[in-house]
Amino acid sequence: MTEHHQICIIGSGPAGFTAALYASRARLNVVVFEGHQPGGQLTITTEVENYPGFEHGIMGPEMMDVFRKQAHRFGSSSIYETITSVDMSKRPFTLTSDSNKTYTCDSIIISTGAAAKLLGSKGEQEYMGFGISACATCDGFFFRNQHVYVVGGGDTAMEEANYLTRFASKVTILHRRDEFRASKIMLERCQNNPKIEFMINTTVDEYIGETLPTGLRKLTSLKLRNTVTNEESIVPADGIFVAIGHKPNTDLFKGKIDMDDTGYIQTVGKSSFTNIEGVFACGDAQDSVYRQAITAAGSGCMAAIDAERWLEAQYG
Ligand code: NDP
Repeated sequence: MTEHHQICIIGSGPAGFTAALYASRARLNVVVFEGHQPGGQLTITTEVENYPGFEHGIMGPEMMDVFRKQAHRFGSSSIYETITSVDMSKRPFTLTSDSNKTYTCDSIIISTGAAAKLLGSKGEQEYMGFGISACATCDGFFFRNQHVYVVGGGDTAMEEANYLTRFASKVTILHRRDEFRASKIMLERCQNNPKIEFMINTTVDEYIGETLPTGLRKLTSLKLRNTVTNEESIVPADGIFVAIGHKPNTDLFKGKIDMDDTGYIQTVGKSSFTNIEGVFACGDAQDSVYRQAITAAGSGCMAAIDAERWLEAQYG
């Protein structure tokens, strides 16, 4: 028999678990589909210093574990599957997972978050995981006493670069402009770090590497281009971390729900309502502006309250 829930939450970051916490405390039958990255993006970050309530900071994975336990404490549960298709054309809504299981629900909360963007330069796919990474927390350890590069000029790039100095002998930040999007405090932290140097007006045109006798590939150098003069250079590189922002994980809903041009789900006014009745969106999947754990959590709370009131009005 198909499993039915009042609310199916798709995505398990701060938005999803906060929605689960509020909905389960409202005594609703709620389940969280944790997806391919249980706990979401914070599980691949280091220390979270800016989440209120944690005076001395907390490690991202630990924080998400606490989120999950707090939501489960009130009766919500997690299903460790990834939703691969949704039918929102009629109620109850139908979800199918990568285990080929089908679930139905009265309402859906979308909290699928976002994922790291890549450059798309030549060699990127070939050397991804063999010197190229999009997650310093995951892979920084492998670059002890080596020279690594970080691409980007935002807070993510600064955070990754700073973190990498724990392992690397030198970190070079490559940024395509001469102005930075990063917040002043994060930028200054990198500028004051003796292990970090900056190459501005620089972009990566190609990742170059070799295949070792063992058959494994290995990145060895980067072809860089000055974005002002177009001058090219090849520099040796042990590793490179791409930190140029994120893309919302909303492909599952493409053509089924209102989105903006870049794939962020559109919500109505200050609410979490989408254009489909009974479907609510929260977190980075619908927020291209703030994209913080705390704002995601706040919007997850809003989605649960909106869903609760909507369910009450529909089903009593
Ligand atoms: P941002 O969009 O802020 O920055 C992306 C950076 O990557 C920009 O410098 C951009 O360059 C560059 N970039 C984008 N595409 C390319 C490309 N194709 N080639 C080369 N460079 C490229 O994303 P972030 O992920 O850094 O930050 C997102 C949000 O998350 C921000 O609001 C940030 O404050 C927040 N954040 C906060 C943290 C914290 O407080 N601890 C940590 C990490 C993120 P350009 O400037 O030229 O467009």
